[in-house]
This record gives sequence, structure tokens and C-alpha cells, in this order.
Amino acid sequence: FAGQRYAVLGLGRNGLPAVLALAGCGAQVQAWDDGAATRQALAEQAERAGVAHNIIIAPFDTMAGYDALVLSPGIPHILPKPHPIATKAIAAGVPVLSDAELLYRAVRKAGSAARFVGITGTNGKSTTTTLVAHILTEAGVPVAAGGNLGPAALALPLLPDNGIYVLEMSSYMLERLDSLHFDVACLLNLTPDHLDRHGDMAGYIGAKAHIFDHQTEHDLALIGMDDEPSRLLAKTLHNAPARCETVSGTQAGCTWSGHDGAIWHDGVRCATPGPALPGSHNAQNAAAATAVAQFLGVDEAVCAAALLSFTGLPHRQKLITTREGVAFVDDSKATNADASARALSCYEHLIWIAGGVAKAGGIEPLAPLFGRIRHAFLIGQDAQALSRTLDAHGVAYTLCETLERAVPEAYATALATRTPVVLLSPACASFDQFSGFEARGQRFAALAQAPDLHATQDT
Ligand code: ADP
Repeated sequence: FAGQRYAVLGLGRNGLPAVLALAGCGAQVQAWDDGAATRQALAEQAERAGVAHNIIIAPFDTMAGYDALVLSPGIPHILPKPHPIATKAIAAGVPVLSDAELLYRAVRKAGSAARFVGITGTNGKSTTTTLVAHILTEAGVPVAAGGNLGPAALALPLLPDNGIYVLEMSSYMLERLDSLHFDVACLLNLTPDHLDRHGDMAGYIGAKAHIFDHQTEHDLALIGMDDEPSRLLAKTLHNAPARCETVSGTQAGCTWSGHDGAIWHDGVRCATPGPALPGSHNAQNAAAATAVAQFLGVDEAVCAAALLSFTGLPHRQKLITTREGVAFVDDSKATNADASARALSCYEHLIWIAGGVAKAGGIEPLAPLFGRIRHAFLIGQDAQALSRTLDAHGVAYTLCETLERAVPEAYATALATRTPVVLLSPACASFDQFSGFEARGQRFAALAQAPDLHATQDT
């Protein structure tokens, strides 16, 4: 990048490392973020890294003369709501690129033949990305995983020729690729999400389908078969040059499948998802990760062992502790009913902690699973509204306001009713009470592990 000029707008977890990496490679970078504290953070980090001389922190006026514009993933650049700076860049012929594209260019320029795996989908991206990285690490392959999850693409290290980058790709990042092609591209599933950003379902599917762009006959295109839009997309992929394989969490008849508690390849049982991968959704993730790893040359036995040693990601059906036979499970990442349905369907009987800022439709879509709930404890601003749905379906509940009240009461109820699981799966956003789902899950874990859990309940 030496001698080139880059514009970076938005200095969050992708933008800031992008500025530092580009400036560190000798590019001239102009960077801007409306937040003064964010700009200050960049100035300090650039000083520390000794790259401040390559960076100008200033708002953009004209967009001409840049080699590329790097936009924070949260800033749209195409219809229906393009950001004015992006519109100016496009009019001036300046490409809008994601940091993943720049990583790819940097790796190739450095002469490394490291391979790239891209994982996308509406749900399961983080789990599958982490699982693929875990399997490859167990196989002794040099791995760098990140992107939408974990370190941003341009914060990843340069890998040797036998290294593999495993990138979690959001639809926003996929819209901003140019030359990057994935040796293995995996699209897990497609359900309505971010439609405000992409205009409609067709726009969203179109953005996700970019993961398969530029693939050749040496590459693998892996696609989920558990929803209709993905199945339709799969039909078009069979005509593409890359090898196309299909993956399901429930159905036999796909190249890879996770039905009946095992992982199957072309109908032959080859592994078992470990204890950190409960439910049919995780069976799909496990089958997909196995497919990716085996295509990259990892031995079947190594894959099978790695599935068993995987410890899971925080806040996604994560077992926190078991006390007197009661398991406390943190599924704080479930911020909508669809995600909570995955967790609820894993337990026959449970005590449920839910609530926060409800999404459109509330928890009504979970009604078919209500029979599993022995008692619900509702927290957060929309607890009252959610309770009306429970009333309508005859589910017993307690309004608790906070996790501080809900966790000890849930534990007492679990003991009294001999229910083996207390599940936090809120089906709601957390912003009324927490900085995010992580903070909510951490609070739950701290309360579940508190030595005086019984005593708290009496106060
Ligand atoms: P993402 O990174 O795409 O948000 P995660 O791996 O963090 O996905 O999982 C988030 C939630 O999505 C999980 O808690 C679960 O409820 C749901 N989920 C995970 N994997 C799948 C899948 N393959 N299909 C459908 N839903 C899934």
C-alpha cells in the first residue's frame, strides 16, 4: 500500500485497525469519525504505533484522488440509503472496499499463498467460524480467524503459505469485495434480517451470494439446505465452476448433514457434535465446519476429535455451572424469538429467564415450545407485554424486573420442581438494562455462580 491514498470513514472495531494497518504499510490515510473520543483514540494509538505521520484526521470534503474508501460496516454505500460520502466516492470512481478485501490484497502482495475461508449466513456465523478455526488449530495448521467476529480483518497477522484465514463475513462486508475469492465459501442459512439496510429479501440474498463470487474449479461452495431461499440459491450454484456441496442440520440426503445426533458425509456417519454444540442448528454448524476442514485437507479423525473438544462460544447456550443438579445456561445472544426457539427446543423441561427490549412479534412465535417451560421469570422494560402472551397460553410466570431477582428465584423454582435447567434466552435486546448481550450474559453468569445464591433469594 506504500504511496497509495486511502479514505477511512468510521473508526470503530473495523475502521481503526484498518487505518493503523494501512498507515503501517506506508499508505497515506485520511480518517474521520463523528465521535471526538473515537478520533482521540485513533490519534493516541497511531502515535504509539509510530504511524501518525501517515495519517490525517479530518472530515471529507471531496472524494477524488483516493485509491479506495473503507467504510465502517454500519455505514451503507448502496441503495436504498447510501451515505453521502459513499455516493461522492462512487461518482469520483473511488472503489468502496471492505477491510477483508484489503487483507487479501496485502497477503497476496506479501507473496503468501495462505488460503481464505469465508463464512456467512443469517445465523451461526460466529459459531462456525470459531469451530473451523478450532479444528484447523487442532490439525496444526497456522490459522487467523476474525472479521465480523473477533479481531477485524486488518488486525490479523500475515500467515505463511500453509496458513488459513477464516473470515466471518457479514452481508455488508460481502458487498465490498473486489478481487478476494474464497477457497472455501460457506453460506449457512438465509432468513429475513437487516432488510431495512438491503431494501428487501432479494437485496439481502444478493449481498450474501457475493461470498461465491470469483470462485474457481479448485474451490468449494458450501450451502445450507434448511431454508427455502438457500435451497433456491443452491440450484444456481450447481452451474458455477466451484465444487458445490450442501449441508443440513436435519435432513439426510445432503452432502453433509447433522441429523440423528451425528455428522454424516454422503450418508456415512463420520463424527458426533460435542457437548458444546447442542440442537439441530449447531448440528448444521458442526457439519459445515467438518466439510470446510476436510476440504482443506484435515483428517477425518482429527475433525471428529476437535468437535468433541470444542468448548463453544460465550453467550450461545453456554453451560455456566451446575448446582445441585440444576444447569445454568447462558444464551444471552438470543435477542429475538427465532434465536430463543433454538435454545428452548433443546430442553424438555426448563425454567426460562427472558425479557428486555422486545422485537416485533414478541415471543408469540415461541408458543409451540411453551409446553417445555415450567415457569418463566421476566425481566426488563417489556416484561409486562411479554407476560400477556404467557397469560394467553397458560404459562406460569413471575415479573422480576432484574436478573438480580430472577436468577435466585429461578434457581429456587428449579430445585422445588426438580427442573434440570435454568435458561437465560431473553428473545429481546438488552439495551434497557445492559451495554449489550455480553454484559447481560456476564451478569447472569456471576449471579449463577454466586456462593450465596440461596441467601440472595431470601433478601
Ligand atoms: P451469528 O454470528 O450469525 O450471529 P452465532 O453463531 O453467534 O451466529 O449464533 C447466534 C444464535 O443464532 C445462536 O444462539 C442460535 O440461536 C442461532 N443459530 C446458530 N447457528 C444457527 C444455524 N446454523 N441455523 C439457525 N440458527 C442458528
